[in-house]
Amino acid sequence: MNKKVRVRFAPSPTGWLHIGGLRTALYNYLFARRMGGTFILRIEDTDRTRFLEGAEKDIIENLAWAGLAVDEGPEHGGGFGPYRQSERSDLYKKYAYKLLNDGHAYYAFDTPGELEHMRTENPNAKYDYTTRGNMKNSLTLSGDEVKKHLDSGEPYVIRLKVPEGEKVVFDDMIRGNVSFDTEQVDDQILIKSDGLPTYHLANVVDDHEMQISHVIRGEEWLSSVPKHLLIYKYLGWNPPVMAHLPLIMSPSGGKLSKRKAEKEGIPINVRDYISGNYEPEAVTNFLAFLGWSPGDDREIMSLNQLCDEFSLERVSKSGAVFNLEKLLWYNEHYLRNRPVKELLPKVKELCHEKGYPEKSDAFLEKAIALMIERVSTISGIAEEGWFLFDAPEEYDEKAVKKAWKENTTEYVQFYLSKLSGISDGEFKAARLKEELSRSVEELEIGFGKLMLPVRISVTGLGSGPDLFSIMELLGKEETENRIKHALRSLN
Ligand code: GLU
Repeated sequence: MNKKVRVRFAPSPTGWLHIGGLRTALYNYLFARRMGGTFILRIEDTDRTRFLEGAEKDIIENLAWAGLAVDEGPEHGGGFGPYRQSERSDLYKKYAYKLLNDGHAYYAFDTPGELEHMRTENPNAKYDYTTRGNMKNSLTLSGDEVKKHLDSGEPYVIRLKVPEGEKVVFDDMIRGNVSFDTEQVDDQILIKSDGLPTYHLANVVDDHEMQISHVIRGEEWLSSVPKHLLIYKYLGWNPPVMAHLPLIMSPSGGKLSKRKAEKEGIPINVRDYISGNYEPEAVTNFLAFLGWSPGDDREIMSLNQLCDEFSLERVSKSGAVFNLEKLLWYNEHYLRNRPVKELLPKVKELCHEKGYPEKSDAFLEKAIALMIERVSTISGIAEEGWFLFDAPEEYDEKAVKKAWKENTTEYVQFYLSKLSGISDGEFKAARLKEELSRSVEELEIGFGKLMLPVRISVTGLGSGPDLFSIMELLGKEETENRIKHALRSLN
């Protein structure tokens, strides 16, 4: 019988959750759902020097925003807690002592100065089988000396004794057969001088204790696997199946780092996507395809569909380039598929934030309908559609230069006089268009010669959604006021 699938997302609360972290969480979640398994959130907070207040909350909120429901975790409970490593310290010590007793780990008492000295002698030196014999540790000191050091209260660490000349081989579900020589591996610190475990020890202990069946994480952790596998072996445990996800690359090449993302205008933290009002389903759909594909030409897949079809076998080995335009394409798709009524509260909030005059729901719904095909995110309705809510004070210079010629004022005035004859109740797009057609005929000019100046007068811009629908939405009084204002300003 297959072992029950249990996967974990194990972020360190040292910074805001970034978009690559969310992809790792997503792949774990999708795999768990697909396999009928359990998705666990474990907070790896043993590095107290880099701890960031609020980061755990950020992680939990971001996962919830993306729709990744956690089955077991610090806020969610579960039978394998606690789910914060800082609350599990005793457990790690117990296993560190076991490794010590079995001769697979040792105490090291080297001072920072002594470590520095080792590196000045040979800048490439690692603390490993070649150097540990010359250092101050329980392999080189007598039992009495070791005891003296331990009793003295001076700081010490516990290191893994990595053997010389062995091969660590494993089968990664994504990368295939991977092999490391233990010679490349240093004697990893397992317990730091503050008594807390390093990532490596805590990670292995918890994956075992929490009965994790598959470790799915970023490729940057691949080089840690030999250390982990040695610890598994020495503790007599079976390691979980490994799957290392391809790197996320920047469009300009190389790994998508914080700096690169900033330079290339890519939001890096999940909270930026939330504050940028991205559609969560667009982000998860996009991220799912950043390293995975369903094997046919489908691109739009809901979270539920992804849960049904995701497989680690289809995750690619090679790096996946982050394409912001593609993300916006997804966002447009999901945004346009949402019912206007559902968009209303958010648009109301955005308009309020912008300080626009209060509008009725009916007005806002029409504004949404006018703008929805022209924006990439819901924010665009309030931002790019500002002219629906606020009268222009300035007019697009380029458009004015192109459209406002010698007789333009006269033409616009002519149309304005036609508008004054239309009642409020008749102030409808079709009628307004008809009136404009009639005006250009009477003036014996082309349609654009009048239409564009009227558009500029009403919206301040040279392009936008259907002008006559905008005018209908604004109503007779507001439209006329705007045209009069433009005639005064642009003369
Ligand atoms: N705490 C590690 C991180 O911050 C976890 C890596 C792993 O999944 O093993 O990404």
